[in-house]
Amino acid sequence: MAKYIFIGGGVMSSVGKGITTASIGKVLQGRGYTVTAVKIDPYINVDAGTMNPIEHGEVFVTNDGTECDQDIGNYERFLNLDLSTDNYMTTGLVYLSVIQKERNLEFEGKCVEVVPDIPNEVIARIKKVEQKTGADFILIEIGGTVGEYQNMLFLEAARIMKLQEPENVLFALVSYLPIPSVVGEMKTKPTQTAVRTLNSAGIQPDLIFGRSNRPMDEPRKRKISIFCNLREEYIFSSPDVESIYEIPVIFEEQKLGDKILERFNVKEKDNNLNDWKALIERIKAPKKEVQIGVVGKYFETGEFNLMDSYISVIEAIKHAGWDQNVKPNITWLSSSKYENGEGLEELNNFDAIIVPGGFGTRGTEGKIKAIEYVRKNNIPFLGLCLGLQLSVIEYARNICGIKDATSREFDENGKNLVIDIMEEQKELLKNNNYGGTMRLGSWDCNIKKDTLAYNLYGSEDIKERHRHRYEVDNNYRKILEDNGLIFSGINKDKDLVEIIELKNHPYFIACQFHPELKSRPLTPHPLFVGLMKAAIKKEGL
Ligand code: GLN
Repeated sequence: MAKYIFIGGGVMSSVGKGITTASIGKVLQGRGYTVTAVKIDPYINVDAGTMNPIEHGEVFVTNDGTECDQDIGNYERFLNLDLSTDNYMTTGLVYLSVIQKERNLEFEGKCVEVVPDIPNEVIARIKKVEQKTGADFILIEIGGTVGEYQNMLFLEAARIMKLQEPENVLFALVSYLPIPSVVGEMKTKPTQTAVRTLNSAGIQPDLIFGRSNRPMDEPRKRKISIFCNLREEYIFSSPDVESIYEIPVIFEEQKLGDKILERFNVKEKDNNLNDWKALIERIKAPKKEVQIGVVGKYFETGEFNLMDSYISVIEAIKHAGWDQNVKPNITWLSSSKYENGEGLEELNNFDAIIVPGGFGTRGTEGKIKAIEYVRKNNIPFLGLCLGLQLSVIEYARNICGIKDATSREFDENGKNLVIDIMEEQKELLKNNNYGGTMRLGSWDCNIKKDTLAYNLYGSEDIKERHRHRYEVDNNYRKILEDNGLIFSGINKDKDLVEIIELKNHPYFIACQFHPELKSRPLTPHPLFVGLMKAAIKKEGL
């Protein structure tokens, strides 16, 4: 029988519910149990695929091609799991499936009602995860903040499950404890109010995680305990930390694992977070630093949004750095400034350059200039998705002499569309069928022997995750190849270019997929590790 822990947020959003959820999972894995996690987002969008990354943050993609919230990425990274469409739901998705069932007469003539039919659908989806994974613990994170109209129905699902099987369900509240600068003291009142709000939804929290920029002291804990009707041993301090990967260890120092197992009346099978602790040691004691430049658009909108839009790329860079015992310093370089070929010399200050994924025309000419510069100046380079497409355009223009080479995404009527759209995609777009229709999820890639890619992966058959509509046009493969571009990874089923690379360059490789989605802290991705090694070499470390 699985045990369930719901995780909700109090006071405000963005306090780290996702990381808290992932960390609770890590703690339970450390105690020898299998864990999985579900993210519930209260918006109407059926998935995250149609949302602007500046507003929503990165769109994460699972092996089965679900375009979902970035927290699924946090769960995968912390728990070292491959999750699927079952691990993610939104209000839109839940309503859509209830309405479809009603249309199919699956309710057999009954009046279908918001309560209990919507919470019942949520519960059925949670139970399906249990059946499919057989996990011992299922963590369910409810997006948003308690008291919001939007997530009431998900709190209802938690309440009903707690009512039906109280011995198997806990509710954790992740709440914010502000320290107003004029007062200089940690305030608990907003959290007390959040707990009252949760109470009015029929739920008493079993665990409270107090998020703050300082650790919670005893008097604060006592206050929360008295006013929120919860014993102190179930109140956990969750202060800001340098690296999010420290959080499971911080929770275990407060005996979180013991408390959860006691409440569920189960025994620990193990007590071991050793590999995680070793990772934290590596994070804290890097031997050297390397400078990584990321060239992209969206970079005028401020550091805060950026971090969110490129979270998997940032994490993948860090994982590779820690693996090599270096601290990577990431600098965001806005491509628009390179458009006229100016300012490119600054790229010499970096040990490696990444051109990440992206959509639309803005900023692409500057990125092409940056790719030309790193190619000519032997600066280690990794191109991701759009980064591959722009590398091919750059090579076609500057080496193959196809001066007007471009992508259909930037110029519908271009003459030399070295990057083009597949026929089936054309049809979809004609019908405005945008949701969930890109080339998505895990695809096979065959790697040519005696290439850099083969060296890095050490295998001829790999699988990587995709999210794009455009591809290298095969009609241009010969001329590109004749001029020295190496197609080192190919999807054989559809004959699609997956990896390109150059010889006689310290490190120049680009891929049509998103390797960052598969990087994990304990198993960094080979393409990023390769980049890091080349960066270390350039730095002369
Ligand atoms: N815009 C490009 C495409 O749709 C690249 C997408 C990406 O980088 N994820 O093919």
